[in-house]
Amino acid sequence: MNLQKIKIGVISALREEQAGLIEIMQDAVTDQRGMRDYVSGRLWGIESVCVLSRIGKVAVAATTATLIESFGVTHIIFTGVAGAATTDVRIGDIVVANQLVQHDMDASPLFPRFEVPLTGLSHFFSDKPLSSLISQAAGQFINQDFPETISEANQREFLIDRPVVHEGLIASGDQFISTSLELNQINDHLTGVLAVEMEGAAVGQVCFEFGIPFAIVRTISDNANEDSPVDFVQFLEKIAACYAFGIVRQFFSLLKGEKIKLT
Ligand code: SAH
Repeated sequence: MNLQKIKIGVISALREEQAGLIEIMQDAVTDQRGMRDYVSGRLWGIESVCVLSRIGKVAVAATTATLIESFGVTHIIFTGVAGAATTDVRIGDIVVANQLVQHDMDASPLFPRFEVPLTGLSHFFSDKPLSSLISQAAGQFINQDFPETISEANQREFLIDRPVVHEGLIASGDQFISTSLELNQINDHLTGVLAVEMEGAAVGQVCFEFGIPFAIVRTISDNANEDSPVDFVQFLEKIAACYAFGIVRQFFSLLKGEKIKLT
């Protein structure tokens, strides 16, 4: 797609996940709809709309539909934090979703567990070119920006050594996962989950229904266990903003370079 015709919707749930973006937007104009501030303008020269969705599947579904219907975005990216769902994924790593599932969806026995009624789907696939651009951006952030933007003290405190970019399944639900028991229950019924959070799969469903390409990128803030409440808050305070801004900046610079063609 021609860059002139692109309008990127950038969603995050929490302020720290979008810190710095609004401030650098060119010709920014804010519209309030349904208790959200939609900020339209240009990010690194590309038409964009930034919005904080608030937390959870309903909140982000309403935000995503408004971005598409009222603001005419052509592509959506979600940047935020998530809990690790496996020991292969560590705090400070980045997970890019290739597909997403709503782990709390269960209309059985009428429909198979996890299937979203009337869509025939339990897993929603993210857009390949957009996700691969975000993965590349995440890799560039780690290689180029990470050593300068994340202090050594913070790297030590959070035991972040060499962060890795993973691609795979993200599970979303209206639940902050803060016990191993809750995480095990998810992993007992779903295979290959890399991260758990509270919005991504709802973005996936709405984008599927409207035919809008989307990508979800999550930095791991906690291990979705008993330590999560503390780890999550600390990570959000000290690190999340650097990652979010850095990844989005790299994403827009790749997009401008048109190294990958978007649909
Ligand atoms: N107390 C916080 C609530 C945050 S909820 C506040 O008032 O701001 C957690 C947010 O981070 C959600 O947007 C979710 O997508 C993500 N997240 C991070 N770790 C998570 C985990 N372990 N389980 C579920 N969501 C998690």
